[in-house]
Amino acid sequence: MTTELFEAVIVGAGFAGIGAAIQLKRLGIEDFVILEREDDLGGTWYVNHYPGLAVDVPTTTYSYYFEPNPNWSRMFSPGEEIKQYADTVAAKYDVPRHIRYNTTVDGARWDEDISAWHIDVRGEQPITARYLITATGFLSQPHTPDIPGIDTFEGRIVHTTQWDADYDPAGERIAVIGTGATAVQLIPELAKTAADLTVFQRTAIWVVPKIDFRFGPLAKKTFARFPWTQRLLRWLTDSIYEVMVSVGVRHYGMFRGRFNIAASDLSKIHRFLVIRDKELRRRLTPDYDFGCKRPTFSNGYYQAFTRSNVHLQDAGIARIENDGIVGNDGIKVGIDTLVLATGFDLWEANFPAIEVIGREGRNLGKWWRETRFQSYQGVSVPYFPNFLSLAGPYAFLGLNFFNTMEYQMQLMDRLFSEMKRRNATTFEVTEEANAEFLDRMTELLGESVFTVGNCASANSYYFSPNGDPALLRPTSTETAIREAMNFPLSDYRLS
Ligand code: NAP
Repeated sequence: MTTELFEAVIVGAGFAGIGAAIQLKRLGIEDFVILEREDDLGGTWYVNHYPGLAVDVPTTTYSYYFEPNPNWSRMFSPGEEIKQYADTVAAKYDVPRHIRYNTTVDGARWDEDISAWHIDVRGEQPITARYLITATGFLSQPHTPDIPGIDTFEGRIVHTTQWDADYDPAGERIAVIGTGATAVQLIPELAKTAADLTVFQRTAIWVVPKIDFRFGPLAKKTFARFPWTQRLLRWLTDSIYEVMVSVGVRHYGMFRGRFNIAASDLSKIHRFLVIRDKELRRRLTPDYDFGCKRPTFSNGYYQAFTRSNVHLQDAGIARIENDGIVGNDGIKVGIDTLVLATGFDLWEANFPAIEVIGREGRNLGKWWRETRFQSYQGVSVPYFPNFLSLAGPYAFLGLNFFNTMEYQMQLMDRLFSEMKRRNATTFEVTEEANAEFLDRMTELLGESVFTVGNCASANSYYFSPNGDPALLRPTSTETAIREAMNFPLSDYRLS
């Protein structure tokens, strides 16, 4: 079989893939292809289009630092605007011509003899590339729960990632399974017109009010004319989020959880002001610490439960029948539509999202599971030369994905520039540097909410299946960027 040749392959055309492509271009590398399984770019912001979809990080912060957008309509913009932003930035940097849509990567294998990656593309000829960059995101593999009888349901069944734009919930009897960030956005929208909406909650979620407002024409004009004004606002929102993650997550122990207690009090007051029914308030109250799991922001979620057509079911699901759901309390709820707001298979299907076989036949997914989930600076793994995994263990800085992208682009810059300077074509992180990084992350997590807090009942995807809170990188954004710009070059073997 013939093989196509590229200098680099990027898997995924979401914000991470677009960012990596921009960085390759800045480095003078144009011979690359982005393989994307969907038929458009934007990743999660293309796939998700359920009612109520909006970003839950202020848009001033939720953008590439080098591409501020003066046209955001509000502080927490709706999903379609974020998708539009992805389109605009990709077009500006001439990224779309590199993208190959409807292309699913099954796996990749390092070939020692030619120092390159063989990439298996479903139904197409394989690709050979010197560099492999997986930009598959953390939340890209939808989770469909294995509830007894789910296959026998005869009504409409839809996962939130596969929303049908033509679906009209008006007059429908709907069940939503799940109460994560997606459900918190979707439920208030469905509640407006559904005849009956039952929310199946397994684990209650912390919800705090969202300080949202519109950017009027004057604000937009000011941002466009005087970009420093938007930078200033970004500095403010960046700082607030940074402090939240630092005090509430990373340094939970040092502050004795005071920030988390204050945030849970805010959520409690919010519930108290909205819901008069004491018992309902109790049932909606989480029993784990604020911060163990991603908290949510909403001004409509608790309100939805005050409507007569909305019911909370927290007894657990016994089974699904052809026309409804039977709870563990024996009560059956008849429904027309079942909405699965059940999130994503983060650890099972995403670490890694494709099978990756490195040097000496090392299988990345197996190795992570046999040892621990680990990656140097959140991107590199020993025995995997010329490979960058942008959604790796300890990569995510928490809350805002763009900060993560920012430091990863800086790291690419330093690494590839040095390779060029030395005329090298292969890089591989050393085992010592990787081990030292993992030890440091483990130590830093020692006083985090994940270690010191009460997270046992949170069911949080921040924890890997073996119990390590291996998703978040426990450093500030500033530290991550500084390390990406200055890491010892001896941490990589270049040849
Ligand atoms: P999620 O947070 O993982 O929530 C999934 C929900 O489904 C949980 O409540 C879970 O319960 C429940 N669930 C799963 N399997 C179940 C089963 N078999 N029976 C009963 N309940 C079950 O997923 P998500 O809400 O889609 O959000 C994922 C992430 O996407 C968020 O944390 C956030 O980072 C991101 N997000 C971002 C935005 C944004 O605006 N930026 C918007 C939406 C989502 P348990 O808690 O008990 O497991």
